[in-house]
Amino acid sequence: MKSFIHTLFAGILVLFTFCVNAQTTNDQLAINWLQYLSDDSQKGRFTGSPEHLKLGDSIAHYFQQTGLKPYPLINGYQQPIEINYGKNKILSNNIIGWIPGTSMPDEFILITAHYDHLGTASTNPNLAFNQGQQVILKDTIYNGANDNATGTAAVLTLADYFVKHPPKKSLLFVCFTGEELGLMGSWPLVYLLKDVSVQAVVNIEMIGRSISKKIKAPVLTGYEYSDLGAILNRSLEKQNPALYGHKYIAPDPYYTHKLFYRSDNYSFARVGIPAHTILTTPPNDKYYHHVKDDFKSIDLPHFTQTIETIKNSLLYLVNEAIVPKKINTLLLPEK
Ligand SMILES: [Zn+2]
Repeated sequence: MKSFIHTLFAGILVLFTFCVNAQTTNDQLAINWLQYLSDDSQKGRFTGSPEHLKLGDSIAHYFQQTGLKPYPLINGYQQPIEINYGKNKILSNNIIGWIPGTSMPDEFILITAHYDHLGTASTNPNLAFNQGQQVILKDTIYNGANDNATGTAAVLTLADYFVKHPPKKSLLFVCFTGEELGLMGSWPLVYLLKDVSVQAVVNIEMIGRSISKKIKAPVLTGYEYSDLGAILNRSLEKQNPALYGHKYIAPDPYYTHKLFYRSDNYSFARVGIPAHTILTTPPNDKYYHHVKDDFKSIDLPHFTQTIETIKNSLLYLVNEAIVPKKINTLLLPEK
């Protein structure tokens, strides 16, 4: 009898833990991916490097294992991208997984991040300007933990969450190649999806460090160009008004840095799709494009809490029959 009660109690405990955890994003999964993506063995994930191609295979394998489907316009989970780079052609892939919507499968929300970075001092000839720091630090690997292993890990963790909580609209989870070479992976995907109803793109960048010790909330680039920010904030307020209040995600205050134009969201925004980047790190961050942007520089609780926030911000958009307003491209200033 004792052992039966013990077993029953343990069972209830497991069930309770499962119920609690099932409602939140998986922190350990996010941290494991972050560590793997920013490990020295990835050699800074330079677009098209052997390490970057192998990483693309790993992400594709993960999508398959997690239960995402290949999107029919793509052969498998990888969209080949060819980039002219000086005299060379670089071949690499966007990695894409699909969760079909349960009741609005023809309406799409994209959740995206770039998984490339700068490589190493020897693989990236454009890094000559940074050589001083390498000599001093004897480190030549740009691990890109914050930029953008954090965003990539967030996309992969959100994919895991939404497989377990199927959304009403279709979701495409996209890891872009070639961002650091000039948003080279995103434009071919805009073109591929030209006849698909893409309602919005939520791009994630640099969520591993906060604006300050006090200001942890994310900001959204180009907030004023669509109502996507308002829709995300409405969702947050609905989930937890005490925690998030009315406008938790703020407009990007670093207007002069033109962040809206500097990540893959812009490729979609320029054709009018409400496409914005969520980030939490200011553009003057001391480790931006620095060899010290590595795993140990990341504020892990901030990182995992931000993924949870992003998940909460998406619930309304992906489950309700609401369509964000298109961006009026005539209002976008010249890049
Ligand atoms: Zn980036």
